[in-house]
Amino acid sequence: MKSVKKIIRVVLYIRVSTEEQVRHGYSIESQLKRLKEYCKLHGYKIVAIYIDAGKSARTKLSQRKELLRLLNDAQEGKFDRVVFWKLDRWFRNVSDYYAINSILEKCNVDWECSDEKFNTTTSNGRLYLNIKLSIGQNESDVDSDRIKFIFSQMIKDKKAIWGTNNCPLGYKVVGSKKNKRVIKDKRTSDIVEFIFKTYVINNSYRKTAFLVQNKFDYIITSDTIKKMLKNTLYYGVYRGVEGYCEPYITKEKFDYIQNLLPKNNKQNKNRDYIFSGLIVCKHCGCKMSGTFTKNKKCYRCGKYKNYRTCTNSKIIPESRLEEYLLTEFPHLKRVSMQESEIEEGIDFDKKLKQLNVKLDRLNEMYLNDRINRESYYKKYDETKVQINDLEKQKKKSKKPKEIIKLNVNFYKLYNKLDDEHKRSFINKYIDYIEYDSEKDLFDERINIILK
Ligand SMILES: [Zn+2]
Repeated sequence: MKSVKKIIRVVLYIRVSTEEQVRHGYSIESQLKRLKEYCKLHGYKIVAIYIDAGKSARTKLSQRKELLRLLNDAQEGKFDRVVFWKLDRWFRNVSDYYAINSILEKCNVDWECSDEKFNTTTSNGRLYLNIKLSIGQNESDVDSDRIKFIFSQMIKDKKAIWGTNNCPLGYKVVGSKKNKRVIKDKRTSDIVEFIFKTYVINNSYRKTAFLVQNKFDYIITSDTIKKMLKNTLYYGVYRGVEGYCEPYITKEKFDYIQNLLPKNNKQNKNRDYIFSGLIVCKHCGCKMSGTFTKNKKCYRCGKYKNYRTCTNSKIIPESRLEEYLLTEFPHLKRVSMQESEIEEGIDFDKKLKQLNVKLDRLNEMYLNDRINRESYYKKYDETKVQINDLEKQKKKSKKPKEIIKLNVNFYKLYNKLDDEHKRSFINKYIDYIEYDSEKDLFDERINIILK
């Protein structure tokens, strides 16, 4: 006898931000297509579709109108399950997620992701869900899977996936919004031709970058040169799609150049610099870039490295910065974890007390002629500045802007993340890190500015 399956009435939820909409264009359709396929495969009956267009992950719940309509319909018992593409379409914030989930639970509605699997019935599954939610905000920048999915159709149709500002050098984007294409840009085509010609002669990214700057007064980094030389786009092929755009070089020339490129770049692939774009050289104000030195991920000032126009020659090992961050993180606080929450007040007071003891000692030394006036003033002022800073921080820490509670130890959580997700996590809380190469001690050189 053929068994009759219970009908599961599902609704689809789609969210896309304005930025994503403008940039990728196809994402609503892509999500919809994927979700419909998924439901068909699982025999779900689609009873409604909710689309929050132009809403970013940061949009307040009250402004996600379609989500509110969905909740309303859930309370009226119109469906049994919500299906969305990926968790970040649904929520990127732990507290919102739990607030909405408790409403849905009361209505006997559950949810399912078409492209990510979560099992919320086990504690491990819930931990994984928490991690995913807590790192979700910046994921769009790094989740290449998702970008590939959205872009793949456009690339197949030979449509431009860039805007005018991020189009590869030597090309520009033309055409209407729905039919953007990549063509050669006459204003920069000479530079591209010069780069390919010059590299073949001198075999050096840096020299090529230098010569470009001299000849065209156009600033380019050796890293960009390196990426260009490896980009198949310049012989007209993009992500395997032939004839994607007009080529600058032949496939033969491209292959020839690949043989000239340094061979030791294997390790360089997929290497995620977790502080990429976050460290600012205090000396020249430029962002310090990732570099692989002595088998370690490090950061250094690009202006020093490429042009020697900055004097900050220091190299920061990533592991050291990470270690520093992990020790400092609970004190920096806007993030509030269970353990550190308890320590928070005590630590500031303890530090302040220590500094005041230091002041006392300085006074005593000065009174007893054990220190001269000049160094007494200097040390006294330095300590006073530290105390003021600490007091400011203490005030700030009492009013966290946003509290994300995770029932796990921060270190444990952090160590579970791979480099890509560590980067998302760090990006979520840190605005930038200032690096002052002129200070003597490593700890003194670092100044972390939270978002
Ligand atoms: Zn610098």
